[in-house]
Amino acid sequence: MYKLDEEGVKFLKEILEEFGPSGFENRVLKKIKERMEKYADEVKKDNLNSLIFVKKGASERPRIIVAGHVDEVGFLITSITKEGYLTFTTLGGWFDQVLLAQRVVVMSKNGPVMGVIASKPPHLLPPAQREKVVKIDSMYIDVGATSEEEIKKLGIRVGDPAAPWSPFQMSVTGKTMFAKAFDDRIGAFIAMEALRYLKESGEKHPNTYYAAATVQEEVGLRGAESVKWLADHDVAIVTEVDIAGDVPGIKPREAQSKLGHGPSILTYDRSMIPNQKLKEFVIKVAEEAKIPYQLSAMARGGTDAGRLHLYREGRPSIVIGIPTRHIHSHVGVVHKEDVENAVRLIVELIKRLDEKTVNSFKEL
Ligand SMILES: [Zn+2]
Repeated sequence: MYKLDEEGVKFLKEILEEFGPSGFENRVLKKIKERMEKYADEVKKDNLNSLIFVKKGASERPRIIVAGHVDEVGFLITSITKEGYLTFTTLGGWFDQVLLAQRVVVMSKNGPVMGVIASKPPHLLPPAQREKVVKIDSMYIDVGATSEEEIKKLGIRVGDPAAPWSPFQMSVTGKTMFAKAFDDRIGAFIAMEALRYLKESGEKHPNTYYAAATVQEEVGLRGAESVKWLADHDVAIVTEVDIAGDVPGIKPREAQSKLGHGPSILTYDRSMIPNQKLKEFVIKVAEEAKIPYQLSAMARGGTDAGRLHLYREGRPSIVIGIPTRHIHSHVGVVHKEDVENAVRLIVELIKRLDEKTVNSFKEL
């Protein structure tokens, strides 16, 4: 049975801490390739840079893609002020309130530059304005420079990307983890760990397994649009963060999943209604294998499955969620056991998805 061991946590930490907002994922992709190449029979890449690690089973078809996106929400520099500050726009969705006083890394042509997001200090704001959320368009990044000239010397230009700086840590409970970019490097990690487990355990599977690391999801599922032509898949399983509902203020009707209760099976998201036969199959397999799971429905937000299920004449698809607290911020929280159980569920599914089963999903 799969276990998240020390080596797995080390790899997870490495990819979570790496710099890689949408459109600038190469550093993360290189780290994944470096580790995964030895477990894969073949590595494929499309021209937007999404990677697929292929593990051959007993049959060429069906091809099962399990995909997680490796881009994180970040920023892009839009202008440089005379005083040496950087203005920015967002890559992906950010809540204005989680940004101030957070550290970011700006990736200049000369390398990383540490900065902090700032705004006019509250001491100088009239009382009425102090009550309000400061909007992103009145924030800037301060890299500690004092002139435009200094910014130039640092190699920072308009169009350079920036991303949160936030180290990975295990929580004091030993069961949960703090990090940026769980959305969705945890999903890519799960796809990769399932491949590594299948390779090392020698367990048989009646299909070809495609573990995919996709790009540019946060700016509109763009990587999934191109990777589907590379994959030419028969079934898509997207591993993606699910908004955990066990946070003060969230009502059960808004988010159902809780940390430590197993991966969630997404019954709905704004980009896809899953194939119902595949959904029932996933539930049946989880129950047979005694893997805890939760049913979840995400009224807002889409996933890469939104693109992958619309390949050619349509492909049975589902999203497996990893309950995650505080997504799209500098620090998310994920439960180790949910990660383990998600990998176990993927492995059990891959072991069972033969041609006959996949064809049965396509019947009325
Ligand atoms: Zn995501």
